[in-house]
Amino acid sequence: MAGKMCPKCGKMTFFETPTGRRCSKCEYTMTLPVNEGKGGRGYKCSNCGKYTVFNNKCSNCGATYSEKNNDKKLRA
Ligand SMILES: [Zn+2]
Ligand SMILES: [Zn+2]
Repeated sequence: MAGKMCPKCGKMTFFETPTGRRCSKCEYTMTLPVNEGKGGRGYKCSNCGKYTVFNNKCSNCGATYSEKNNDKKLRA
């Protein structure tokens, strides 16, 4: 699984976490607001990039996901 570029160390080891992102190289962490501060915890939509996926459906762009792929991540 490929990560994003870490803004601190520049390595591609910036991984998503339930609350934001974390670099596995330098430990830099970033907390992102989920569901635009409305509460709850959405999973990141791979289509639009926002943390607005609830019940396998993105409330931002409407993309849907199969339960099989997101089950474990949604429970994290
Ligand atoms: Zn880093
Ligand atoms: Zn989306």
